[in-house]
Amino acid sequence: IKLKIVDIPVPITVGPAFEGETIRKKEAWVEFGGGRAPGFELVRMCDAGQVEDGKIEVVGPEIDEMPEGSVFPLGIIVDIYGRKMQDDFEGVLERRIHYFINYGEGLWHVAQRDLCWLRISKGAQAAGFKIRHFGELLIAKFKSDYPAIVDRVQVTLITDSKAIEEKIAAARDKYQARDARLKGLTDESVDTFYSCTLCQSFAPNHVCIVSPERVGLCGAVSWLDAKASNEITPTGPNQPIAKGECLDEQKGMWQNLNDFLHTSSNRTLEEVNLYTLMDKPMTSCGCFEAIMAILPQTNGVMITTREHSGDTPCGMTFSSLAGTCGGGVQTPGFMGIGRRYIVSAKFIPADGGLGRIVWMPKELKDYLKDELIERAVALGLGADFVNKIADETVGITEETILPFLEEKQHPALTMPALM
Ligand code: SF4
Ligand code: ZN
Repeated sequence: IKLKIVDIPVPITVGPAFEGETIRKKEAWVEFGGGRAPGFELVRMCDAGQVEDGKIEVVGPEIDEMPEGSVFPLGIIVDIYGRKMQDDFEGVLERRIHYFINYGEGLWHVAQRDLCWLRISKGAQAAGFKIRHFGELLIAKFKSDYPAIVDRVQVTLITDSKAIEEKIAAARDKYQARDARLKGLTDESVDTFYSCTLCQSFAPNHVCIVSPERVGLCGAVSWLDAKASNEITPTGPNQPIAKGECLDEQKGMWQNLNDFLHTSSNRTLEEVNLYTLMDKPMTSCGCFEAIMAILPQTNGVMITTREHSGDTPCGMTFSSLAGTCGGGVQTPGFMGIGRRYIVSAKFIPADGGLGRIVWMPKELKDYLKDELIERAVALGLGADFVNKIADETVGITEETILPFLEEKQHPALTMPALM
């Protein structure tokens, strides 16, 4: 590993050593996004004339106007001009925001897009860290890490709750357009999947396999992103894997993927199935957007999200579930996933697919609503399938949701036994 030393004009130390640092609520001077206030981050490819290199603008209050323990909105817009920049690269560079910010001592970042959640510690605030320093950090890192594609960078940081509304809507349009480009691409239509080992910095044996119909579990690395990332850095964390011989079409196992997994997991794992959570499922690192768990009494699976802090029918909250099955191990019956994987045609087909879902937080149902209905209709489950999925308003134990599922004649109840 070649370490590049860059001088970043911020009053805190910046380096990979701080990546695993957590900042608890009570240690935070201020917190942004995470469902508590609006938040988003966006990398935009721009024309030369639109980007003034090094410019940082803060729209709204600076940290001096943020009282201790407060919650604010935060929009991070990174405008990049580069002769070799492509719009396919936007998503790839956007994911780096997560890593770059976490490199800062006293800075904490989770999730991505309009789900991002950040904290600045009291220590960083006392050291003089300002909102504008996010800009300094990002500009320095993007320029030093991607000199081949990044010529000019400017950063806009929005902390004003009015100003963020319009910008977040524009960002969502961008996210949607990116996701739409993936539509029509299926796992069968390509002969190459991609690995992602970016998270090995804290889960050393973890390997994501990213296929057109299965986004990385962080939700931030699609097959197109992994492909673009490999173009940018051919020796980087996203390697092409020719699928080669298929060993199990139903469960989604390929010889070449197994071979790759074995080597890249430091020989801790030998086989992986892409289309089931019951048998050699993909490993989970720590940054999954959602997590699935089986509910034996209902013969179904439940899903909870990072945003949902409440109890769930499996008896655990998101954070206790994450503690149980994170860290880069295979845990049959549990699996971290990206939110969008739920509406993929390759959502656990070997376990019965979408029809297996018996519980999810109401927020997730609303978030995916139109696509859930579309998928349910395509699978012959009917447009009202979504209403058969229990949520926290129905119950948070297996016992309390079971009568509801029976009354609704939920399809999982009559599926083959899950275990
Ligand atoms: Fe890559 Fe997976 Fe980590 Fe996302 S969760 S950054 S896809 S290794
Ligand atoms: Zn991860």
